[in-house]
Amino acid sequence: MTLTGTYYAASFSRALEVIVHLAEDDSLRLTSADFQRWESLRDCQLSEPLGSMARHFTLPDGARLEITDIAAIASWEKQQARSSGMHFVHGLESRWLWVVAAASFLLAFMAAGYVWGLPIAAKFIAFKLPPKINELATDQARTAFVHLMSFEDSKLAADKRTTFNAQFMKMATTMDPSHAKRRYRLEFFAAPFPNAFALPDGLVCITDELIGKAKDDKEIYGVLAHEIIHVREQHGMRSVLQNSAVFLIWTLMTGDVSTVAGMGSALPAMLAQSGYSRGFETEADQGAAEYMIKVGWGTKPLADMLQRIDPEFSNLGNAGEAISTHPLTEKRVELLKAYEKKVAEPLTNPQKTP
Ligand SMILES: [Zn+2]
Repeated sequence: MTLTGTYYAASFSRALEVIVHLAEDDSLRLTSADFQRWESLRDCQLSEPLGSMARHFTLPDGARLEITDIAAIASWEKQQARSSGMHFVHGLESRWLWVVAAASFLLAFMAAGYVWGLPIAAKFIAFKLPPKINELATDQARTAFVHLMSFEDSKLAADKRTTFNAQFMKMATTMDPSHAKRRYRLEFFAAPFPNAFALPDGLVCITDELIGKAKDDKEIYGVLAHEIIHVREQHGMRSVLQNSAVFLIWTLMTGDVSTVAGMGSALPAMLAQSGYSRGFETEADQGAAEYMIKVGWGTKPLADMLQRIDPEFSNLGNAGEAISTHPLTEKRVELLKAYEKKVAEPLTNPQKTP
């Protein structure tokens, strides 16, 4: 291969334009009108490629040969199979703008997928799950809850149970258009704290302690309405699916497939521990408010109940959502009031008709 270069002798700094011959026999020959030099390439050092900078051969006596045609040198190196790890870096550097753009795009795409795509996918799948899956998840979760929270048999009087059951079924039928596809039922437990939560197939559990806190049955119905929305909107399975997707991505990234096997049995615990997002809680509160306003109770019974059980750091809804993920009671009560005001406004300020 023949190309041009600039030669700088070790002893003087004058530049000399030379013809460079890179021969098959591993020799480097430099020629000009009045100059000639021959070296074995093995004794010459070639600088590493860096961006669009010229390359240099350093000759044994310290003389330097600068070559500006870096593309030619690169292809010669390729032929000589002298490529080193640095060449990859060089390739990236000369295309750094593309690399940065591609990386930013990928990050943005992943973030968007995580923030918007995942919940949409989870919702889509949750509503398509066969009832059998929901029933299985419910059975597993119920067992886990009973065990985790030391639930015991309820001591609630039979006539109270009948009343609550009847009201619960009435509400579920009214509030959930797909109630026939679920198995709505109410179960009572004795526990050391007031609590209520919904499971995917329509099972709603409530503790005697929560019922004991109520000053009016409507307060309990408000809580049940909140739980019915969790079932209707499939908040449980949607949460599980969203968490599982993160779990799956993590598995893909780490390549540790052993975690996938344990996923099925981890579902109830996931449901119990991570609870619902604030968005789901707000949706459940709003759905409950809608019903309570429609039947003429207003949102006060639910707001009162929320405030009454708050000082004990207890919770409504999913068992794990107490302190960390439940919207603060005050905020929830405010939202209930605001919602009621919004609904009431068209009634108190009727539009004037001519
Ligand atoms: Zn809830």
